[in-house]
Amino acid sequence: MPWRKQYHVDPYAVWVSEVMLQQTTVAAVIPFYERWMARFPTAEALAAASEEEVLQYWQGLGYYSRARNLHKGVRTVVLQGWPESVGDWRLISGVGDYTAGAIGSIAQSIVVPAVDGNVERVFSRRFMVSDTGEKLKRYATFWAGRNVDPQRPGDWNQALMELGATVCTPKNPACGRCPVAISCEAFQAGRVGEFPAPMPKKDWIELNHVTVVPFWGDQVGLVQAKPGEWWSGLWQPPRGDVGADLGIGEGEFVGRFKHVVTRHKITLEVRRLGVECHLDGLTWFELAELDEVPMSAPGRRAVNLALAASLRLPGLE
Ligand code: SF4
Repeated sequence: MPWRKQYHVDPYAVWVSEVMLQQTTVAAVIPFYERWMARFPTAEALAAASEEEVLQYWQGLGYYSRARNLHKGVRTVVLQGWPESVGDWRLISGVGDYTAGAIGSIAQSIVVPAVDGNVERVFSRRFMVSDTGEKLKRYATFWAGRNVDPQRPGDWNQALMELGATVCTPKNPACGRCPVAISCEAFQAGRVGEFPAPMPKKDWIELNHVTVVPFWGDQVGLVQAKPGEWWSGLWQPPRGDVGADLGIGEGEFVGRFKHVVTRHKITLEVRRLGVECHLDGLTWFELAELDEVPMSAPGRRAVNLALAASLRLPGLE
């Protein structure tokens, strides 16, 4: 992995990789990481960049609050200096227990645990712990904290995470080649499949939204999501509840798709509007430059759907 080359010397490189790896797989992260480090090779380079550019380089990784927090946190570090303890790391924007433990142990040799989902899984099987969620994390952190190697805390944490990622995998763990099989309680009891215990099911909230994509000539009209809204800072066509007046007209129906955000399942009805319109905050972008605009995933999908419909539907220009 490219960030391993910079481990032990550069907390910034570890920080970027750890934030990108939250909710995203290693294979998916690598090209984004390389592109990011080519443009923002140091904390100073990232701190000096605009939020717009940072979001643009994050595009495709999703969960944009991670990018915003990283940007904010890096600016704090550039102003105040690098944290020297896990407690100090935890004061930095977007840095939780896991990230603080990972950066602190890997790049600064601080003797702390770094417990991610992989470690929790190994722990729950190794000791047949049937708790889930925060409780499981707390127990696993306590156990890891008592066992982390004081000489090589970063290697110890990474070894444990790798064991979970490559051997003790969620499905079909390779117990036959596992170095801790002999002491693994779930394996010895033939109950590996029961751990970790399943999380209680989410209560989904179903929402019906409509988005109207305004086109005028070779331009598309977008609004920027406000702080506190979903996709804050990103651009998208005006959106609201089905039946609500978005203030720019109804447009023609071109399609519908589903999008999931946190515990919300949104059914998004897409409409296309082919007349010039005005709305507070509506900004016109050239279609040719759209790839460079940081957009929400459903916003981009809606625009693409409306564009495709222009070619397909008679009467639409
Ligand atoms: S023996 Fe199997 S279940 Fe136990 S830690 Fe190893 S891979 Fe995981």
